[in-house]
Amino acid sequence: MIKENLKDVEKRIEDACLRSGRKREEVTLIAVSKTKPLAMIEEAIEAGLTEFGENKVQELTEKIPAVKEEIRWHMIGHLQRNKVKYIVDQVCLIHSVDSYRLAEQINIEAEKKGIVCNILIEVNIGDEDSKFGVKPEEVEALIREIAVLSHVSVRGLMCVAPYTEIAEENRKYFKQMKQLSVDINEKNIDNVYMDKLSMGMTGDFEVAIEEGATLVRVGTGIFGERNYNRGL
Ligand SMILES: *Cc1c(COP(=O)(O)O)cnc(C)c1O
Repeated sequence: MIKENLKDVEKRIEDACLRSGRKREEVTLIAVSKTKPLAMIEEAIEAGLTEFGENKVQELTEKIPAVKEEIRWHMIGHLQRNKVKYIVDQVCLIHSVDSYRLAEQINIEAEKKGIVCNILIEVNIGDEDSKFGVKPEEVEALIREIAVLSHVSVRGLMCVAPYTEIAEENRKYFKQMKQLSVDINEKNIDNVYMDKLSMGMTGDFEVAIEEGATLVRVGTGIFGERNYNRGL
């Protein structure tokens, strides 16, 4: 099933790239495996996937050592400061930094491990009360604060767009994200590289790609519906 789903998702990514004059290599597909068992992750690896996203530290720390293949893990969910130490050197990118205090903690733990941790700033682009992330107008100031941390590298922005049945409704938000990214890039802030834009999920990844996403996070489209009551 995963193989067929992936074929479909891959075709839709390619078509979205074609429509927007982008190269397929510009877009990285992250398979969001949260709530899904190891067997399905193995099946996805078998089908050729190499980048996986999880939103909970506990699930990440259980799954990472259990997968033997060389794959790249992404932390895409809300992160508490006291849990940073468990994942800072285990993931290739933390997508969900939305405060200086969290970045500061990542910096401390990254320094202990002797690494530089790549992060994205999560933007609450739809200005929804229910969502994490900083307001668009606060992003630049936060990035300027974080930029001085030596063991953290800001690589771009991430958003979880509002839930909608109609992907087109999110186009305006993806456009705003791209513009924000371009604007900040033009400020040439030291130690800040705005080369990544993480946006687009199963319901809207094609529109996100058309508007400039470089990382799309697809769960349901690859693994099927999630059942939050089932264990690992
Ligand atoms: C669950 C999740 C996704 C994937 O959602 P789907 O709609 O299943 O593709 C993407 N990003 C984040 C932050 C998530 O928590």
